[in-house]
Amino acid sequence: MQVGIAHRVDRRQSNERKAAEASPTTDAQGLVEFACECTKEDCERSVRVPLYVYRQLVEAGNQYLLQAGHHAFASYRTIVALGLMRIEERA
Ligand SMILES: [Zn+2]
Repeated sequence: MQVGIAHRVDRRQSNERKAAEASPTTDAQGLVEFACECTKEDCERSVRVPLYVYRQLVEAGNQYLLQAGHHAFASYRTIVALGLMRIEERA
């Protein structure tokens, strides 16, 4: 579990760096690709969301961006579910 948390923290830091860029790469729909912030250390999934959505969840402090079926906490609430994208917060 400790390793998993370190993984989640690491993913969040690199996602935050990406979100802080002046003009991160967006796809045709205006979505930015962020790494899944789950605690599975071998997870290499990515999730695409609008930049403002990612910035809002970072601001919330206890929310994480995840691929469907992946989780950031042992105990969580799903805030947003859209396609394969999930936003969870600690329950
Ligand atoms: Zn994951």
